[in-house]
Amino acid sequence: MTTQASTPTSPTPLTLALSKGRIFEETLPLLKSAGIEVNEDPEKSRKLILGTSRPDVRIIIVRASDVPTYVEYGAADMGIAGKDVLVEHAAAHPGALYQPIDLNIARCKLCVATRKDFDYEAAVKQGARLRVATKYVSAAREHFASKGVYVDLIKLYGSMELAPLIGLADAIVDLVSTGNTLKANDLVAVEDIMPISSRLIVNRAALKLRREGIEPIMEAFERASLATMA
Ligand code: AMP
Repeated sequence: MTTQASTPTSPTPLTLALSKGRIFEETLPLLKSAGIEVNEDPEKSRKLILGTSRPDVRIIIVRASDVPTYVEYGAADMGIAGKDVLVEHAAAHPGALYQPIDLNIARCKLCVATRKDFDYEAAVKQGARLRVATKYVSAAREHFASKGVYVDLIKLYGSMELAPLIGLADAIVDLVSTGNTLKANDLVAVEDIMPISSRLIVNRAALKLRREGIEPIMEAFERASLATMA
């Protein structure tokens, strides 16, 4: 009879979900502070799973709005997502995610914007029913409800700036960073809804079961984000 030697299996690496672009770029220094360097640039590679300088840590590249889903279901142990995305996710899945740290990266504002020739204040004062196009339906609903403004919300997935220009909506709710996109489309921000930055999110089970791996990363991220604010 032959006995099979058992081969040691290495545990699944700790997995961090990130989106490409600003969040990825601004997370690199935080990772570095935790002693982690990413092996590849997602802008140059089509790979969706990226190795790092630590064999026990890997990065997955997903759409920004999918980051909370990967973390909630445990396909990623941790992730980094904007407050805009987290507010929308929490509306459908309240309390699903542990959000320990505001990393203060990818900062911008969620704003109401209209065409330059639209008198938003007057429309609100008159109690007009406004048509508002947005990707951020939950945040927008909450905002207008708290002001007592009647709105018909139109869900869009991108290029919100177009909606007031061609008569789809009176206003949009969108993220504004430099203001260049609004300016290029002859729109103006008429109201701030909330400041936005990105947060670390952690899968609740992973936090208990993989605490030894996760905690030092959380601590390094917190230190690094506080240092950038000082
Ligand atoms: P800006 O022209 O710099 O004001 O940027 C506005 C455009 O970039 C809008 O289409 C926003 O949806 C997008 N944007 C700005 N900041 C962010 C951010 N932190 N996260 C995701 N999208 C953003």
